[in-house]
Amino acid sequence: MAKKAKPKNKKVSQRWKKYKVQGDKLDKGASCQRCGPGTFLAQHSNRQTCGACGYTIFQDKK
Ligand SMILES: [Zn+2]
Repeated sequence: MAKKAKPKNKKVSQRWKKYKVQGDKLDKGASCQRCGPGTFLAQHSNRQTCGACGYTIFQDKK
């Protein structure tokens, strides 16, 4: 009996995880000022970006 290779678990991009929390947790990040509430900005080390329109907020890092 031949073994069937198990499908590898696809890695979920961090960026898409942000979308799953929409409508659930609002404290994860700021909303996009262009797209309005419901579209959250992706968290980066020194900035927040909107995946929908590309809006970016740069944050000063101490
Ligand atoms: Zn946006």
